[in-house]
Amino acid sequence: EKEKRAAVLNRAEEWGVKFVRLQFTDIFGVLKNVAIPVDQLPKALNNELMFDGSSIEGFVRIEESDMYLRPDPDTFVVFPWRPHEGTVARLICDVYNPDGTPFAGCPRCTLKKVMAEAAAMGFTMNAGPEAEFFLFHTDASGRPTLETHDRAGYFDLTPVDLGEDARRDMVLTLEQMGFEIEASHHEVAPGQHEIDFKYAEALTTADRIATFKFVVRTIAQRHGLHATFMPKPIYGINGSGMHVNISLSKDGQNAFYDPSDKLGLSQTAYQFIAGVMTHARALAAVTNPTVNSYKRLVPGYEAPVYIAWSPRNRSPLIRVPAKRGSSTRIEVRHPDPSCNPYLALAVLLKAGLDGIKKGMTPPPPTDKNIFAMTPAELQAEGIGVLPGSLDEALEALAADEVIKEALGPHIYERLTLAQKLECEQYRTRVHQWEIDQYLTKF
Ligand code: GLN
Ligand code: MG
Ligand code: MG
Ligand code: MG
Repeated sequence: EKEKRAAVLNRAEEWGVKFVRLQFTDIFGVLKNVAIPVDQLPKALNNELMFDGSSIEGFVRIEESDMYLRPDPDTFVVFPWRPHEGTVARLICDVYNPDGTPFAGCPRCTLKKVMAEAAAMGFTMNAGPEAEFFLFHTDASGRPTLETHDRAGYFDLTPVDLGEDARRDMVLTLEQMGFEIEASHHEVAPGQHEIDFKYAEALTTADRIATFKFVVRTIAQRHGLHATFMPKPIYGINGSGMHVNISLSKDGQNAFYDPSDKLGLSQTAYQFIAGVMTHARALAAVTNPTVNSYKRLVPGYEAPVYIAWSPRNRSPLIRVPAKRGSSTRIEVRHPDPSCNPYLALAVLLKAGLDGIKKGMTPPPPTDKNIFAMTPAELQAEGIGVLPGSLDEALEALAADEVIKEALGPHIYERLTLAQKLECEQYRTRVHQWEIDQYLTKF
């Protein structure tokens, strides 16, 4: 640890870093910053830096607001873009109480806790996300619109490939920050893109997702565009998902692979799948945490609606991509990019571990087109449905002790309280659809 700290100081000096942003996320996954001048860096690396947590959503009550940030030296990275004030670097931090214990409201600590549970069973989780997002034009005053670069291209002077340029720039910037980009492409909907980076152990991946969103937004802005990870910005076209590819490894081997099995999957893989399916409805409150998330989980837009799995079919909750051997993995398809990456990976892992601990068996895989099945057929095959709204997901979570345990009471209570408030605000607002539907009819 001491050497790592020294290495950070050296690199900061080498790069001429002037400011360091200490980053952490609140319970909603919103990235927070405390910027310090570089001469405070040694103090920060010694975990001596205190901040007032009372202003951070879901953190603490006023009277106990002093929190300590513990930077993780492995997360030191210099921002490749150069602001006027001099070179800026960042460190991702865990949040600690003054008494030296991890703070219960720290999502990163929450993920570490579930990872430790996996480690005690001999497992490490690897995760690789496929985050989708939209690029929208901004108006004359810089406010985001719902005009996509593709569509605007028809009647605008804007070159049609403005979004493609922005995406290329995003990929290059991410690479400079140490990301290994595996794929980057235009998605199905106009203005929609996807950038995939290589899988890594869960904590690294969660850190990268947080960084990724921030980099994508920053670079979009530099191209005069607004990048949004809102799950369903436009009715009638695909929403944005964040499929998560998951595998477990044990003793350095892929624990999901078994060449002697008909599908090449191990007992562990089947149990993990069963665990995720069993807890899917409760998971949704975390992996699909907004009112808007449920506008995406509807038939017809490549997003899952039913709790099923398949090695072939693309429509179910869990797909098993064809790769086997060390690349054996499952793709969980309901998460969307509005989720808190730390909490989402924590609860997904927890659900899978529960499947392993309890020796769960998944239902047989579904190769039929689930969307064409009648409710009776679905029921006969034991295929459940994902929650249709955030309210439903919150009810499912309230009844799921395993997933609640993963979050811990502090995060569970604060997160769901805020979510319920959002549901209530949404429920009581008069929406445009109602005006269109009723204003002249009655
Ligand atoms: N956008 C789709 C979703 O909401 C996924 C499309 C795809 O990657 N096949 O999940
Ligand atoms: Mg993809
Ligand atoms: Mg995609
Ligand atoms: Mg995918």
